[in-house]
Amino acid sequence: MKGRNVIVSEAVLPVARERMNSHSSDAFVVSCIDPRFHAAIHQFIQAKHPGSFDSFLSIPGGAGILAYATTNLINPRDSQTVDAVKISRATRALVTTIDALEVASTLHNIQHLYLFCHTNCGGYRIPKRYCEMQQQKRDLLSVKDFLQEAMTPYLDAVTPHLYIADGHSMQHPDSVVMRKIVSSKP
Ligand SMILES: [Zn+2]
Repeated sequence: MKGRNVIVSEAVLPVARERMNSHSSDAFVVSCIDPRFHAAIHQFIQAKHPGSFDSFLSIPGGAGILAYATTNLINPRDSQTVDAVKISRATRALVTTIDALEVASTLHNIQHLYLFCHTNCGGYRIPKRYCEMQQQKRDLLSVKDFLQEAMTPYLDAVTPHLYIADGHSMQHPDSVVMRKIVSSKP
């Protein structure tokens, strides 16, 4: 048994060594912590960038909580309606995202940034699916625009991808549909 383990290890060593010698990674992913969507999003990213993506940055509300900071703190509309606890959490999440993205772009040389929201998200608490998706679409575009502007030049060569993981039926991870949000800007 011991000998067999040695043979297996030697077989995979060149690949493992190559991987360990390289910091490079194709993609960086921001998503919600909701366990119902983790497998589907991981499967989706794995299919697009096999074995070459950073560990997911999972935060409650996904891109939605980042949008709460970018829209209410940085571009305040009506400060009386801002939830103090939520804006504090959102600001910390945004700072964490910027810090991680800076490392991912400079050290890992990522080429793609994925921002995810998902249906029936506790971070939104919008019961009507259509209204929730419309808000999430606005949020994804807002966060993308903010990061691209605030993180110049770090994200200049990084292609953004915006998705709503739509798990309306929620029967199986395979039933989750990844709805791409298209922006007029790259
Ligand atoms: Zn969520």
